[in-house]
Amino acid sequence: MLAERLPSVLPELPDDAAMEVTSLHSIAGLLPSGGQLIRRPPFQAPHHTATVSALVGGGSGLARPGAVSLAHRGVLLLDEAPEFDRRALDALRQPLEHGRVRLARSRGTAEYPAQVQLVLAANPCPCAKPAGDVSCDCTPLARRRYLGRLSGPLLDRVDIQVTVRPVRAAELVQVSSDGEPSTVVAGRVATARAAARERWSRLGQRSNAELPGPVLRRPPWCLPGPVIRELRARLDRGSLSARGFDRVLRLAWTIADLDGRQRPDAEDIREAIGLCTGEAL
Ligand SMILES: [Zn+2]
Repeated sequence: MLAERLPSVLPELPDDAAMEVTSLHSIAGLLPSGGQLIRRPPFQAPHHTATVSALVGGGSGLARPGAVSLAHRGVLLLDEAPEFDRRALDALRQPLEHGRVRLARSRGTAEYPAQVQLVLAANPCPCAKPAGDVSCDCTPLARRRYLGRLSGPLLDRVDIQVTVRPVRAAELVQVSSDGEPSTVVAGRVATARAAARERWSRLGQRSNAELPGPVLRRPPWCLPGPVIRELRARLDRGSLSARGFDRVLRLAWTIADLDGRQRPDAEDIREAIGLCTGEAL
């Protein structure tokens, strides 16, 4: 449910992105009638039985875009991610790394953009009961094997890992007044995105997520030693990969942007480490 709400807090697409998204939907024959540009970030949630070609594109003749391209500039949700076919998950690695899909066919090669926010959702074990549920009798091995299907290169491209507690009945029926509507969150996201775009515009980048790692590690954008002390220690200990190091930095900039501050501090770095490693919550 949370993942489905994600597009509603994302800013409208700028002209060039709206053009790309609309073209992709047109090629796939999915353009809504009316002929207007698609302005909202798209959302795709293919079922876990989806084939490789449904996910990354394919078909006979000239290859059609798949879910990863139809979600370009938007959100791709893989619900019950460990249930997806191994080959389908593997086929996603290239597009996620390069932001593009190349599909070779006998009649020619098609290349489609595929820059998505990927959301993977997984239960803690194959029986789908919440963690610590007494009626779960899955063995630790079965649980490890289940989540192990997501491990490795795919998971190494995931920026944020969060454990979501099961909702209790009391919380579900409670009339809550402290929840924020999507429009309020969307306003905050738009402000943070604008700050990042402004900061990186001279480098030709639009968001913290798109930023090449070296930029954040070198002057003038590297953070002072004391701020990244814990981060460096984790890299030296080997508990964080070089890719993970850059991910924490990008995330820390986003946390600072959301808070309306100029630069991340040590607390932002700590929060980003917690989100990246899944230690938060
Ligand atoms: Zn279980």
